[in-house]
Amino acid sequence: MRISVIGTGYLGATHAACLAEHGHFVVGVDTDKEKVTALSEGRLPFFEPGLEELLQTHLASGRLRFATDMVDAADADVHFLCVGTPQRPDSMAADVTFLESAIEQLAPLLERPCLVVGKSTVPVGTAQRLGERLARLSPAGRAVRLAWNPEFLREGFAVQDTLHPDRLVFGVSDSDSEATLRSVYSTQTAWGVPVIVTSIPTAELAKASANAFLATKISFINAVAELCDATGANVLDLEEVLGHDSRIGRRFLHAGLGFGGGCLPKDIRSLIARAGELGVGHAFAFLSEVDVVNMRRRQRVVDLSRQLVGESFIGRNVAVLGAAFKPDSDDVRDSPALNVAGQIQLQGAHVTVFDPKAIDNARRLFPTLSYAGSTLEACDGADLVLHLTEWPEFRALDPGELAQVTRRQLVLDARNCLDQQRWREAGWLYRGLGQP
Ligand code: NAD
Repeated sequence: MRISVIGTGYLGATHAACLAEHGHFVVGVDTDKEKVTALSEGRLPFFEPGLEELLQTHLASGRLRFATDMVDAADADVHFLCVGTPQRPDSMAADVTFLESAIEQLAPLLERPCLVVGKSTVPVGTAQRLGERLARLSPAGRAVRLAWNPEFLREGFAVQDTLHPDRLVFGVSDSDSEATLRSVYSTQTAWGVPVIVTSIPTAELAKASANAFLATKISFINAVAELCDATGANVLDLEEVLGHDSRIGRRFLHAGLGFGGGCLPKDIRSLIARAGELGVGHAFAFLSEVDVVNMRRRQRVVDLSRQLVGESFIGRNVAVLGAAFKPDSDDVRDSPALNVAGQIQLQGAHVTVFDPKAIDNARRLFPTLSYAGSTLEACDGADLVLHLTEWPEFRALDPGELAQVTRRQLVLDARNCLDQQRWREAGWLYRGLGQP
């Protein structure tokens, strides 16, 4: 099929390359000229394992290309909308203006029947408004249909998640749209990937509810960690106990610095805001507390760090391991690691950050922090080492080697995943969260 993907960021670039992998002819359109140039030259403008190879394969196969002009998308049979929906600067609600402008640019070019498919995460009810605008602005009018197909990929696993999703949600209002989506995803459905066909509002809510649940699970165990810190109980043991209960499950039940990134925080806030607009704000009051528990993790790490270095950061050197909001990504949007690093620096410490992939993005967002080219360089002369993003290479560190360069052997493992026995045996004072 001929497919356009509007917006080629983390979601869109991955989706475009994976559609090409499944045999479609794809054009990715983005307003960001630099991004389009990089993608057209086979350079991924962000880090995502396996994606650059896929990009290069399909630029070479001729099934994938990129453009800045929406006209290049005009003759596609299916158009996927993958533009950003960040939090609005003035409220908790999502900013859907990028979607609105994408529709305004695309719709006047649609002269024959086609399907426009929203993939961005949106407040429920957005699609209906966009659909009306689409029908009004398109020369083909109501022959241009709108569907919603929310995306559940995880950064760091985006290629795998897109090629082999654990489920597909088709939010449609007519059988033709469902048939078109089944053709787009025929490879995945032939493999047995479950398809859940829903109404469009249900599809919009599918992603919002999934993220709200995951955030709740993370904040739940982090609230338990707070209780552990107050009582001397151990959250790691509790994770084991709860995780073995098949009704609860082990995944996302891991106490630490909490969640961040370009999705979870803004998606739960958008859901709270939308529920309020719809008069059911009371049903999601708990989600505000989920957000508060999560943000308190960052404060907890700052406070514990200050305590560990002697109640003041003035004149202290702090090494920060990790800048990305999660491992295997260079995404620093709402990164807990950078939030903590910034707060500690503002309280007088000299903070040096190292991250395997996210240094450039971190430097753009927090130019006043110091950045190192390696873990050893970041830790040189450090009074405290903070482990804030759980990259595999940090877990594999040799604490003995690190001890040669630091001023003191103090480590705060805010992701609760270093081998604490190994660190202690190498002479370090190890602190985790929610552990005695
Ligand atoms: P992003 O900021 O990386 O990418 C958005 C892209 O859209 C940018 O490249 C921007 O230049 C482009 N854009 C904006 N307006 C445009 C227009 N009118 N025409 C063409 N391009 C335009 O954002 P992202 O992380 O890819 O997220 C996109 C959407 O997908 C969001 O709604 C997000 O919540 C959702 N989502 C993201 C992920 C993820 O892991 N990143 C996962 C699932 C869902």
